[in-house]
Amino acid sequence: MHSRRNFLQKLSIGIGAAALAPLSSSASLFPAFKKPDKKLHVALMGLGGYANIVAKAMKECKLASLTGIVTGTPSKIATWKSDYGIPGKNVYNYDNLHTIANNPDIDLVYITTPNSLHHRHVLQVAATGKHVICEKPVADNAQQAREMIAACKKAGVKFYVGYRLHFEPHTRELIRMRKAGEFGRIMHVNNYMGFKIGDPTQWRLKKALAGGGAMMDVGVYALNGARYATGEEPVWVTAQETKTDRVKFAEVDETVTFQLGFPGGVIASCGTTYNFNNYERLYLIGDKGFAELSPAFGYGPIRGRTHLGPMNQPLITHQAAQMDGLADCILNGTPDPDMTGEEALKDMIVIDAVYESLRKDGEKIYLDKK
Ligand code: NDP
Repeated sequence: MHSRRNFLQKLSIGIGAAALAPLSSSASLFPAFKKPDKKLHVALMGLGGYANIVAKAMKECKLASLTGIVTGTPSKIATWKSDYGIPGKNVYNYDNLHTIANNPDIDLVYITTPNSLHHRHVLQVAATGKHVICEKPVADNAQQAREMIAACKKAGVKFYVGYRLHFEPHTRELIRMRKAGEFGRIMHVNNYMGFKIGDPTQWRLKKALAGGGAMMDVGVYALNGARYATGEEPVWVTAQETKTDRVKFAEVDETVTFQLGFPGGVIASCGTTYNFNNYERLYLIGDKGFAELSPAFGYGPIRGRTHLGPMNQPLITHQAAQMDGLADCILNGTPDPDMTGEEALKDMIVIDAVYESLRKDGEKIYLDKK
């Protein structure tokens, strides 16, 4: 029960459990989607664990539809064609990806390849003139993220990052309450996200493909959560690491705690790990109330409570809501959620600072000097 696969299975079970609970489709969350005139046509690139979850979820979508795939593994093609009705002319590999430019059946490419390939793949997709969604962490560092934003801007395409929680109802309600002042002045944030990773040979443990370890992969949830819990951008960062298995985690970080100082005086105390389970929570405390999401960052069901009681928000399939929501932005000009390349860059700047602090034995890194 300790591998990444089992983590994903656990999350999938979450989706299964959600199916038994009062599940809302994205159509009922977003009534305008009921009779769409046009759909956003999506190709998935990198057909691994997460692409499979997104593809299944997209069967629920009203505004987005899966019409293409990009894969380096020919043996996967037949299954994807039959499971999702993908025609042969919409199947690509990493070498002929540029020819997608001429395919009117594909509006957007959703990149679900290993982290350190995101930079190259986003630049390649932007050059085809197709919109892009890229999975988290968006890149290996802030400089790469800046180059990705610039490439998408130059190509005139939208660039989103798969921060699916920005369409998740408990998260959205927490942000709404914070903006409405219902928690009063935010005083403290305590977020953490981690799991015990399995297979020691997987790409997540290789720096060249993962960019980093737990901090890159799931620490980004605690960090992004601290930003939406406070509504502010951190001005300083400190970080500490412990490594209890120096063989397995020879190349990447294992367990990291980090603190973010915000302009209003809040300190967010955060953590992430690849070496133990039951570590997933967002907790924000204000002088008039509090909110706790636990679990807070997986596929759900997300559970939440505030000083007013249980949150009772609908349980949805995150990826379906994300794909319909982003399709609505692209097709109908609905304002972008906080899932743009620029938002991901803000996280990458902090992640760079976390690693800098680790290299400097916990030194305080001031972000306003970056
Ligand atoms: P997997 O290893 O399951 O899949 C990655 C896929 O990328 C592979 O199946 C392969 O697809 C393709 N690929 C291309 N080059 C390589 C390479 N050199 N090594 C390995 N795979 C390669 O990873 P995940 O699906 O778990 O993760 C993919 C991305 O999605 C990551 O960035 C991760 O952080 C993110 N993610 C996001 C989640 C979320 O909730 N937002 C949840 C899980 C992951 P093919 O054979 O088709 O080329």
